[in-house]
Amino acid sequence: MGKHQHVPSNAALVARLTPPLQRYNRIGNPLVLASPFIADEYLSDASGFHGSASQLFRPANVDEVHEIVKAAVDSKTPLTLSGGRTGLTGGCVPRDGWILSLDRMNQLSLEPAVAHAGAGVLLHEIHREAATTGQFLGPDPTETWASVGGAINCNASGSRSFRYGALRRHILGLEIVLMDGRVLHVRRGDKVDFPVTPVPLPATTKHSAGYYLRPDLDWIDLIASSEGTLGIVTRADLQLLPAPAALLAGLVFFPSDALALRAVRAWRPVAGLRMIEYVDKPSLELIHARYPDIPADAEAAVLIEQECEASDDAADEWLARLEEHGALETSWFGAGARDRERFRVFRHALPEEVHRIVRGRGLQTIGSDFAVPIAHNETMLAFYREQCEQHFHGNYVIFGHIGDAHVHVNLLPLNKAHAQTGRDLMVTFAKRAVELGGTVGAEHGLGKRKAHLLPLLYSAEQIEAMRAVKRRLDPEWLLGRGTLFPAI
Ligand SMILES: Cc1cc2nc3c(=O)[nH]c(=O)nc-3n(C[C@H](O)[C@H](O)[C@H](O)COP(=O)(O)OP(=O)(O)OC[C@H]3O[C@@H](n4cnc5c(N)ncnc54)[C@H](O)[C@@H]3O)c2cc1C
Repeated sequence: MGKHQHVPSNAALVARLTPPLQRYNRIGNPLVLASPFIADEYLSDASGFHGSASQLFRPANVDEVHEIVKAAVDSKTPLTLSGGRTGLTGGCVPRDGWILSLDRMNQLSLEPAVAHAGAGVLLHEIHREAATTGQFLGPDPTETWASVGGAINCNASGSRSFRYGALRRHILGLEIVLMDGRVLHVRRGDKVDFPVTPVPLPATTKHSAGYYLRPDLDWIDLIASSEGTLGIVTRADLQLLPAPAALLAGLVFFPSDALALRAVRAWRPVAGLRMIEYVDKPSLELIHARYPDIPADAEAAVLIEQECEASDDAADEWLARLEEHGALETSWFGAGARDRERFRVFRHALPEEVHRIVRGRGLQTIGSDFAVPIAHNETMLAFYREQCEQHFHGNYVIFGHIGDAHVHVNLLPLNKAHAQTGRDLMVTFAKRAVELGGTVGAEHGLGKRKAHLLPLLYSAEQIEAMRAVKRRLDPEWLLGRGTLFPAI
């Protein structure tokens, strides 16, 4: 057991609260680490970051969570919270101590305008159930195997954030277990019961790096994006919206990158538009084998989704727009759920393929999650392109949420030394994003892998304001150790 020998085993608690494990066949999360104690998949996340732990708990209800928390506090054992483990920053990966997985807390019930979800419910389960009642959850992170607890704690967003923003604003209520033993039931507007020193927010439409310390802070805002370092979310009430009358989805191919960017600028004000996603040429090449019908002369693509009254009328308007913006005639449009799903799978194929290649080389993923103010969208994109061409020519792709000036640069390093160049490049990107008024983490959080970026955005005093909140709620610093704040 090596350096983890000091961690108490608490075998009786484990035997009672952790029934035999099922194995999951999960996309993008191969089983990689052998451990004599814990099923491997609980020791890594989708980025390939690995850790170790002495025990795994899988409680089925809030009383059992409470019991585990008490045992951890009594024995001063670090506790790492685990959701769907689709995270890309190592937040759910333990450095040592115990893992508390919420995956058995998966009860879901719906009523008009609200989903009551256990923390372990997966996003695709909410989407499916909501659709049967003519409703939907606004935000749509492309990885739908993420859990409610994990998505809330990363303030996840994804492609529909152009219209619906991040998950934070769709949370109506939370059940949270705190390290002092309290079980809070908070609603939107319930203020925290201690003073906080506010820190500024970047002028971006998305932000998920560090605690959201605003004046007159409420619990929901504090917990959303706290990355499992302040409390354990056991249940959430999430706002559901009525499904729109009609939806039109399109995958528009362009003969040049410049035309694609001009279209993005022009289409922002289109009424009902809820998604504008960008796909660059290297990305199209990456998935060409899976999608041989991508037009050969396509240099970039833009995915759109629009809520409308009648898809036929909306489609006519798009024909005029495509012509005006020089889009290729081979662009794909569809108004049905199956078309949307086809486009979603196309979009999801990009990160999937990146992760498959990089992890297949035995490396961890290296992807950016920076957002800048909308006015600097193209400046940042040009900087990415210039730097990637210089250091990663032929080994990078850029795609993502261009509607929010938040594209992901994904590097495909060839070996460990190249990967180090890639990590350095990410720091260069982070500095440039901050210079432009942006954020170092827009939707994935910083976890353990990106915790070193927080001081690029915030001063020592501002980080101290965050640490004061951490000390207040978790004085022994047991929860999510190593996440957000690398050194304790
Ligand atoms: C292919 C791919 C595509 C992706 N696309 C998107 C995207 O479009 N948008 C986006 O936002 N993200 C995206 N992600 C990232 C990932 O899906 C999100 O970060 C997601 O929110 C993580 O949820 P999870 O349940 O998997 O959390 P985990 O990875 O298990 O944990 C994430 C963090 O939340 C904490 N946590 C987990 N459960 C709880 C709980 N109950 N209470 C308190 N803390 C908890 C963990 O300790 C950890 O710090 C993508 C990932 C992949 C692999």
